[in-house]
Amino acid sequence: MAVRSPDEFRESLRDNRRVFLYGDLVEDVTTHPILKISTETAAGDFVLTHSTEPTVRDLFVAPHPETGEPISRYFLPPHTPEDLEKRLEMIGQSIRLTGGLPFGKDVGTDAMYAIMTTAQQMGKPEYLERAQSYLEHLRKNDLNLCAAITDVKGDRGKPPAQQTHPDYYLHVVDQNKDGIIVRGAKIHITGAPVANDILVLPTRQMRENEGEYSVAFAIPANTKGITMVCRPSRGERGPSEFPTALPVRGLVEAMIIFDDVLIPWDRVFMCGEWPYSMLLAYTFATYHRFTGVSYKIPAVEILAGCAVAMAEMNGLERAGHIRAKLVDIAAYVETLKALATAALKSPVMHGDLAVPNPLITNMAKLHFASHYHEIIKLVQDISGGIISTMPTYQDWQNEELHKQLEHYLGGSPRYTAEQRLRMVALTHRMVASAESAHMEVITVHGEGSMEAQRMMIHAEAPFGEYRDLALAAAGIAPHG
Ligand SMILES: Cc1cc2nc3c(=O)[nH]c(=O)nc-3n(C[C@H](O)[C@H](O)[C@H](O)COP(=O)(O)OP(=O)(O)OC[C@H]3O[C@@H](n4cnc5c(N)ncnc54)[C@H](O)[C@@H]3O)c2cc1C
Repeated sequence: MAVRSPDEFRESLRDNRRVFLYGDLVEDVTTHPILKISTETAAGDFVLTHSTEPTVRDLFVAPHPETGEPISRYFLPPHTPEDLEKRLEMIGQSIRLTGGLPFGKDVGTDAMYAIMTTAQQMGKPEYLERAQSYLEHLRKNDLNLCAAITDVKGDRGKPPAQQTHPDYYLHVVDQNKDGIIVRGAKIHITGAPVANDILVLPTRQMRENEGEYSVAFAIPANTKGITMVCRPSRGERGPSEFPTALPVRGLVEAMIIFDDVLIPWDRVFMCGEWPYSMLLAYTFATYHRFTGVSYKIPAVEILAGCAVAMAEMNGLERAGHIRAKLVDIAAYVETLKALATAALKSPVMHGDLAVPNPLITNMAKLHFASHYHEIIKLVQDISGGIISTMPTYQDWQNEELHKQLEHYLGGSPRYTAEQRLRMVALTHRMVASAESAHMEVITVHGEGSMEAQRMMIHAEAPFGEYRDLALAAAGIAPHG
């Protein structure tokens, strides 16, 4: 059972979890018209671990360090730059091979390795023992995960303890011999409706009077008291959309309400140790932004590909302003790739755990978030208005219209009208659809807002070195 099959994964989600969408309790997330797309997107990971292609299986499956049993490679903590490189490669290949992002074990282990890093520092052996035992549980049961960090937060200008009610940040309301009781709501949690377990971490640094909010734990998604409220998302491809080789992929976010949920002690990784909340939140953010960069690379490569293909299909690839725009797009993509490589090659070590370089990882995330909309604008510009106005696939299939559409909607003779329309359909999805608007918001806010990256860059940048170099250049003795 150490590497589950896609069917075993699907079956594990039929567990009476409380998931709501459009006001209805969802009976089965694996068959629901919208949530089955999330299920299948997450199942992509289990398809890859069962691949008959040896290079694919060797990337996604690795031997357990002690028993040699096959386990998901995500459950091997990174110790070296090569381990981080494997994570980058796995995430990129997941998207390229399945057509979607099977987000789950990546974000879950971002949280797990932040928990382990923090547990090493807290000086309480029970936390490290629990983290290690939970990691074994993940390896043995091959669980799909989500990471619930973001609280609903109420008034952003006030810390948790000064809010108008105590539940704007998830907190401990009681404890007994069996565990702790928690109340609160986490929001925007990607893949939650199709996760087996939820990992919960504090969303920010907590202060001395915020011990009850300094809490981290893992809990099965079907535990009593947990309710998920999902955002709507798109369903299967409709008859008006041009078909593609790959099925529709996508994950749904959910608000997770914890209504006095009992968390057994053996799954509690922090309870009151507020001085360590910053290390936990900061380390999670670094791992997770590296994951964000890793999944963004294949997405922006396709975006760049749409720009190149549309320029060629419109016969404009040699036009001066189009070339200049393609250069800007290529520079954006390649800078992102270079920053990701630089981040993994110079990790910060916490004990034996390798954390991607925090300064470079935050620069990479800030780079992709702060220029993404500009790149979208360039692709829209290069492609032309047809990405918003193209006829439907039903029109294309209509015998009477087909000839006329083919006659009028061609471009460069190097491509057929149908090829051009298929590329227009993909480009529409990438830059002019409800999905692309959602992607723009993920780019800004997913893995934390841009200001969060600037705060970490400010904390990590070598300002003292810069100053001393300037002082020396000006002939001023260094200040202590
Ligand atoms: C599609 C999507 C998927 C996501 N997936 C996950 C997930 O899987 N797990 C998870 O835990 N989270 C997830 N998130 C949440 C994401 O990390 C947050 O959206 C992000 O951290 C911003 O928080 P917020 O949405 O509450 O916005 P806000 O915190 O309200 O931010 C809005 C603006 O206010 C600023 N701001 C906020 N507080 C202050 C302050 N005190 N002082 C000055 N400025 C402030 C911010 O910098 C930003 O500019 C996801 C978000 C999206 C959009």
